[in-house]
Amino acid sequence: MKTSINQNITAYIGLGSNLAAPVIQIKSARNAIAAIAGIKELAFSSLYQSLPMGPQDQPDYVNAVMCVATGLSPTDLLRGLQNIEQAQGRIRRGDRWGARTLDLDLLIYSTQLIELPELTVPHSGITERSFVLYPLYEIAPQLIIPGKGNIADLIANCPLAGLKRLD
Ligand code: ATP
Ligand code: CA
Ligand code: CA
Repeated sequence: MKTSINQNITAYIGLGSNLAAPVIQIKSARNAIAAIAGIKELAFSSLYQSLPMGPQDQPDYVNAVMCVATGLSPTDLLRGLQNIEQAQGRIRRGDRWGARTLDLDLLIYSTQLIELPELTVPHSGITERSFVLYPLYEIAPQLIIPGKGNIADLIANCPLAGLKRLD
């Protein structure tokens, strides 16, 4: 039997890190995501530096956005991302937006609007966060974010707020 996996869904993943060599954390996570069975990388943004949200007594973040093709369900994809966070030493202390080695958010899953106890898609912070919108725009300038609008319009209303592109 032919064992090809259906990979028809386009999804976007947000990556962030501000502990334990963030650039290396992001690169390792990229490789780990691409190595999940049923995921293929389509695009990866530049790396960006951003100021922390919430508690300010923590290092700046490194962020990026990845576009993948996948046959995984949204919840299987989320579980795969959480496994990678764990493998890279993410400790959940219950403090919202605290420092972390790795944060992987499922930003967009095809054109779907998802409201589950453990998963909201598009990600709830997507339109307010420069460190999400600018890297998204870099790899998908024509993107329409389901339920939110087109990325160029959203960027026009989102200040950089200290975001810098790293090279
Ligand atoms: P934020 O979600 O505001 O970016 P955060 O990334 O620091 O904050 P986490 O502690 O990583 O928040 O995640 C809290 C919970 O959010 C997770 O347990 C997960 O079930 C849930 N969640 C809901 N929607 C999503 C999504 N689109 N991507 C990732 N996690 C999500
Ligand atoms: Ca997050
Ligand atoms: Ca998260």
